Amino acid sequence: MLSERMIQNFSNLVSIDSISRSEEKVHDYLKKKFRDLKLKVTEDNSKIKTSLGANNLIATLEGTSEKEPLFFSCHTDTVSPGEGIEVVEEDGKLFSKGDTILGADDKAGIAIIIEAIQQIQEQGIPHGKVEFVFSPGEEIGLIGSSALKMDMLTATNGYVLDSGGVVGRVTIASPTLYMYDVTISGVAAHAGIEPEKGISAISILADALQNIQIGRLDETTTANIGVIQGGESTNVVLDHMLIKGEVRSVDPQKANILIQEVSNYFRQAAKKHGGSVTIEIKRMATGFHINDDENVMKTFLKSAKNLGLEVVREVSGGGSDANSFNEKGKKAVNLSIGYEKIHTTDEYIPVEEMKKAVQLVIEIIKNSPNKME
Ligand SMILES: [Zn+2]
Repeated sequence: MLSERMIQNFSNLVSIDSISRSEEKVHDYLKKKFRDLKLKVTEDNSKIKTSLGANNLIATLEGTSEKEPLFFSCHTDTVSPGEGIEVVEEDGKLFSKGDTILGADDKAGIAIIIEAIQQIQEQGIPHGKVEFVFSPGEEIGLIGSSALKMDMLTATNGYVLDSGGVVGRVTIASPTLYMYDVTISGVAAHAGIEPEKGISAISILADALQNIQIGRLDETTTANIGVIQGGESTNVVLDHMLIKGEVRSVDPQKANILIQEVSNYFRQAAKKHGGSVTIEIKRMATGFHINDDENVMKTFLKSAKNLGLEVVREVSGGGSDANSFNEKGKKAVNLSIGYEKIHTTDEYIPVEEMKKAVQLVIEIIKNSPNKME
């Protein structure tokens, strides 16, 4: 019966199209839903800056007991094909009809939150202040959460409900990611007649590669050069090349040092040969690492134990809104909520996992530590 209600809420949510930058309707729906549940609903004005379909939305459940405040977070946008989604239940799993994604990423998280709030209210479970954050534009680069002013939140510890796999898995770390484009400029010359008048971009690259490390550099640090473009003819000294690469590390310091090294090695090599380089570096995400002895993990571990969940700690290769929260001083881990095969038309979520996630959210809220005197 309770799962019927949750499935209904989930179906309603995914039936509202909200591909990234078109989140307005689902935000309108959520504002009404949370007001009906007697939560306080606020939003920022980030839409002006982000050009997304909606602002970040915060629904606050005021506390009934003296516990530390917590936050939970989900994103409201989906990838394509995500228009006209219809939910089909088969063998205890929810699928789309097959021609769209399901949108459990991340609307299952929202349905889980709604169900948890309803159960807390119906059962009169004592709770501290809980803030529920809903961000647009996550799928296109964490745009909503990146624009969120963290002083809008009282809580310093929180849980992003936006990870696949069985409930009990927790993403405790994610890398800082830099992507770079290097344009190497030498001088063209006829390779057979007067090669000494040329400056070869290949020679500059070869020199730089003597020093630039690629591959796995340590357990949580990697680097790669993935694109090399240039040249048209064997009889011309190659004067122009484009190189694209990246570095990732869970240790932000290491990533910073590595990207500096990469650009220095390219510059030095260019100088040595009399050529030049332009380097464009983009910081795509800021990494984080949360240890077991931090409160956000302690509360999770205690809650998972109480529910008999098997805890699996994950280091993610990619980013989520947890990166944005951690970057700006909040402590957040990303919890698995059961969905599988996201971003495909085969996406599905077992109802049993959703029910477990509801219990986990409630248990975390119950186990938030008492406020310090
Ligand atoms: Zn997601």
